[in-house]
This record gives sequence, structure tokens and C-alpha cells, in this order.
Amino acid sequence: MINFSSIANIPRIIFNPKLLQPSLTYQNFNEINFELLKTKHGIKYIVLDKDNCISADKSSRIYPLYLQNNWNDGLLKHFPLENILIVSNSMGSSDDPGFSQVHQYQRNYQLDSNTSSILPILKHNYKKPGCQSAIIHHFENTHPNSNVKSEHIAVIGDRLFTDILMANQMKSLGVYLQQGVMLKKSSPWIMLEQCIYNYVFLH
Ligand SMILES: [Mg+2]
Repeated sequence: MINFSSIANIPRIIFNPKLLQPSLTYQNFNEINFELLKTKHGIKYIVLDKDNCISADKSSRIYPLYLQNNWNDGLLKHFPLENILIVSNSMGSSDDPGFSQVHQYQRNYQLDSNTSSILPILKHNYKKPGCQSAIIHHFENTHPNSNVKSEHIAVIGDRLFTDILMANQMKSLGVYLQQGVMLKKSSPWIMLEQCIYNYVFLH
């Protein structure tokens, strides 16, 4: 389904291309230094994209090589599960009727991790970048005694026009996964993002 929330921002991006500029760039999830996010950048909360970030596209489980490595040894070592939120523009969005994908993903996580913990996944009406207030509300609800500030949130994902744009609009830390799980298929939109990244931000 067309993401109007992202397209509506194009005029703003033309005037201010830095809205698409990541704060940090890694090739994939296993490369992310979560200790550094916490100690150097003051990050307390982690927002994770799903497709091509922690999962292969359309998969309903965490990519096994990530689950066995940086999920447990990096992410969960430095951030408790209640400080983590998965925000996807497929699972949990208006494209997921009855949130069946959310329930499947949470069941798979319990099986794959041999845990009874429920993975926090946002159920939202507005796709990224339009679900900023829903993210803040989620963390305020799970941490009623904390003053949740958006600058303490890192948004991690593989797309400039959704994940990184949202991070910058919120004044959070945008962590861009340039490659992700798989070689990205060259849709015109992804080719445009790669051109912007290579020629605007690396030069
Ligand atoms: Mg993605």
C-alpha cells in the first residue's frame, strides 16, 4: 500500500535534504555497537524496523544469524526488552488486519528464543514517519515514572524515507543499515535512496 505519510514529506525534504541524513551508518544489524549507543549517545530506548533490518523481507521471525549474535550479546545485554519497540510499516500497521503478523512474530520469538517474554511490537494507524507520537506514548506507558525524551531514542532501519526521516523529525538518533539482511532489490525508490546517500551525504 502507498505510504502517504512518507510521500507527504517530499516538499520538506527538498528544502531540507538533511532530514534524510543518518547519524550513524552500519552495514547490517550484527555490526551495531549497542554499548556505544548507550554510553556515547545517551540512548535509553531502541526502535527497530523489521523488514531487512532484523528480519528478511516478509519473514515472521528474527533473522537467525542476528538472534544468535548481536540480538542477545549486544542489544539485550545493554537494553531491557521493555526499552525496545519494533515498528514496522507492514507488521502491526494498517496492512496487517487483525494484527495476525504481530501475533505470529511474537509466537516465533518465544519459540526461537525459548522464552515466555512478549516482544514489544507497535500496533499503529499511521506508517513511519507518521507514527512518532505513538512511539513516545508507548514508552511513556511502559515507563510511567520516567520522563521519556525523543533524544534518548535510537531509530534503527534500512530506509532513509521512513526510518531515518522519522528519527530526524523526532530529533532522535537515526541509525541507518545501508545493506540490511539481503541485497536490496533495486526498486526505483530504493535506487533513489541509495543515490541520495552516496552522492549527498558521502561527498
Ligand atoms: Mg525495512
